[in-house]
This record gives sequence, C-alpha cells and structure tokens, in this order.
Amino acid sequence: MPPTPRELSAPDRLNDLSGTDSSAFEAIWDELTPLGRDRDTGGYRRFAWTPQDGVLREWFTGAARARGLDVTTDRAGNLWAWTSDPDAAVAAGRPALVVGSHLDSVPDGGAFDGPLGVVSAFAALDLLRENGFVPSRPLGIACFSDEEGARFGVACAGSRIITGALTADRARALSDADGTTMAEAMQRAGHDPEQVGPDEETLRRIGTFVELHVEQGRALVDADDGRGCAVGVASSIWPHGRWRLDLRGRADHAGTTRLQDRDDPMLALAAVIAAARSAAEQHGTVATVGKVQVHPNGVNAIPSAVTAWLDARGADAEAVRAVVDATAAAGGAEAVEESWTGSTAFRRRTA
Ligand SMILES: [Zn+2]
Repeated sequence: MPPTPRELSAPDRLNDLSGTDSSAFEAIWDELTPLGRDRDTGGYRRFAWTPQDGVLREWFTGAARARGLDVTTDRAGNLWAWTSDPDAAVAAGRPALVVGSHLDSVPDGGAFDGPLGVVSAFAALDLLRENGFVPSRPLGIACFSDEEGARFGVACAGSRIITGALTADRARALSDADGTTMAEAMQRAGHDPEQVGPDEETLRRIGTFVELHVEQGRALVDADDGRGCAVGVASSIWPHGRWRLDLRGRADHAGTTRLQDRDDPMLALAAVIAAARSAAEQHGTVATVGKVQVHPNGVNAIPSAVTAWLDARGADAEAVRAVVDATAAAGGAEAVEESWTGSTAFRRRTA
C-alpha cells in the first residue's frame, strides 16, 4: 500500500483541549527555553558536541534524575532515561515503551523542533504518576544526539550510528565547517569516540518508540476543511532524495555580448526551477531548488556554469522519479543522485 498522500492521518479529533492542564508542560518548557537561544536572532543554535550541547545534556540528565530515572548513554552518545531496569524487562519479554526526541537544532532553529518531544515526555510521565498509573513495562525517555546534522552534515547521526546505518569510521571522520572532526568534538565533550558503533544492547531495550514532533507545515492546520486537527499520526516517511544538476554555459561579458551570442546557464536554471514546481504539481509531490552555485557569480558576468540542487519527495516513488526526470530535462542536464531513501513504513502495534 502506498502511504497516504499527505503523510499524516488524523483519526481522532483532539481539538478540544480546553480541559487540559498544560502547566506541567510549561514549567519544564520554561527551564529549557533560554538554553542556546541567540540573543540577536531569537533562534536556537544548539549544535552537537558543543559546550552548549553539553548544557542541554546536563539539563536532560538533571530532569531525569529529579524524577528518579536512571540515565544511560549509548555508544553514539544518545541519552536514555528509564523508569525501571530496561534489561530486566527485555529478559521478561516486555521491552520498554520509549518516547522522546532531540535537543539539538538547525542554525537559528525554532523552539519546538525536538524539545517538544522531550519536554512532553517528561510532562506525560509526571501526569501518569500523578494519576497513579503503574506501567507494566519500563518507560524510557530518549534524547538523540546530533539529530539535525547541522554541524557534521549527516542527519540523525545518533540513531544511524547505533543501528549501523552510519559506520563508526565514517562518523568519526565527519568534520564541521572549522575542520573539527566528530571524533575530536566528542572527545572534548567527554564521550570516548572509540565507543562509537552499533549498539545492540540499546536497540534491544526498545519495544515501541513513539516521537511527538511539531509539524513544520500547515497540513494539520488546514485539515478537515480548515477546522484543523491538533495531532496527526504519521504512517510512513515519504520516499525522498537529493539530486545535483550541473548546468554548463560559456562565460562572457554582460555588456558586450549580444543576446544571440550567449550561452547562459542561468536560463537553464530558470527552466529547472519552473519545471520542478510544475512537475511537482502535476505528479502530486513536492520539489525544491534551495541551493545553487554560480560561477563566477559576478553581477556583470554571464556565468560559465551553474550547479543546482533539487530536493524531491512524495508519497509515490515513481512520481518523485518522474519529477526529477522532468526537471533535469528542462535544464538539458543529468540529475546526479546524491541521496535516495525509499518509503519507510512505520510498524504499528495494537497491544
Ligand atoms: Zn526534529
């Protein structure tokens, strides 16, 4: 079955939250709000394995310990807070229910991306305890390291490392804009980079994982004929990828070269951008040209070359491929695939 076209379904009406007491959430939220906020932009700069990241990790550990939770650190440096022994639960055949998210950010990121999932996990635990709820298996709260990949360029590095999707050697060698490797940054932050690698012990502990994440779009707000839905349940991650298009031309002077004599790759770029949009509309996907490099990038110079990057995603992999093909054809270029991830369906448990 292909995933639902908008990725989200909202089976339950959860709009009437008027009776909900959000003060528990807000008290925790207020502790976290000032950490890593840039004074000038108001955005968040919480990058992996920086001193700022250390402050956030300390905050997480403190919040967990204040609730009597045991904190474990896995081989990638992800943090896990447990209500009871997760390994005993594995041995008993009832591995933990884990909730949580991440605390790192993109440059000048928003307040909710990541922290919403972490803070709501603590608030939910507080609420369950207040109501005398006794879980039949451990509850875990996760805080993933380097989820955004803002510093070392690989998103979800923490979870990729423990699952083996990112090899230890490659992870350690990744470097940031200043040339600092992940291994060096980890070392400075007190995490032994030699520890980095797949972590079966941690993965075994996770029976079910649920992440509450802020929606970074308007699909839920506009859902149900504009009446909106408070929460959607993601059933899958759309197929998605990134492609590079190298558009060649000939450098010439902007003043002295007649129009008919020009070979201007900026015109191909314009065609590429317009084609990406119209092909996405036609095939029911999204497509974005968000990064370009122009050579030599002078106001009065007809460029010799333009490189453009296309990000395309959609419910149907064939539709995404069709958009990429149409976009590349419009620019007379080949689309060089830099990454591709097929549809990832989420397993659901009913018990
Ligand atoms: Zn996030």
